[in-house]
Amino acid sequence: MKKQDNQREATLYAYVAGIIDGEGTIRIGKTKTNYYASISIVMTNKKVIELIASIFGSKVRTECVPNRKIIYRWGTSGNIVIPKIINEIYPYLIVKKEQADLVLEFCKKYPKEIKKCRICGSTKIQGYSLCPNCYAKIKRRGELENWKIPSAKFLPKKELQRREDLYRKIKKLNAVGAPTTTKRNDTREREVIV
Ligand SMILES: [Zn+2]
Repeated sequence: MKKQDNQREATLYAYVAGIIDGEGTIRIGKTKTNYYASISIVMTNKKVIELIASIFGSKVRTECVPNRKIIYRWGTSGNIVIPKIINEIYPYLIVKKEQADLVLEFCKKYPKEIKKCRICGSTKIQGYSLCPNCYAKIKRRGELENWKIPSAKFLPKKELQRREDLYRKIKKLNAVGAPTTTKRNDTREREVIV
């Protein structure tokens, strides 16, 4: 039984890898304050997009472009969840393997930094890069707002540069990459962080 389940799972991941190779984007996004890993797929077939959402979570969005078919978009981002997804599909990727490698490299250092409480250095994190104790203390004082800044401000220059370099490398790959990228650039740019 278990063997069969594993086989079914492997088949699904192989299928998803194929979809991502063709219709997906593996990338690093950039906000005003930081960088994040992200995967998205845009298709006109609702069933496939819903299947992928059922495997990896996150929502399906619909986009209506005048005079075109309805577009379905699945996407998720985050420097912990994306490596998990990539690791599942990695063996089956062909076209986007390079992007996957870069994103994995990008995420490698990430969790370590954000997994330390900014006040006491504890490795348990509640939110805002604070441990449950410090988080509760600050919340009681009503000062959570002051700790909200997630961002690149706290990073050493070297790490910032590392992220920027990887961001650019992937951007270049995605721009020159598969022929499917040209048509969809307009919709891809509208992506938001989930
Ligand atoms: Zn703490």
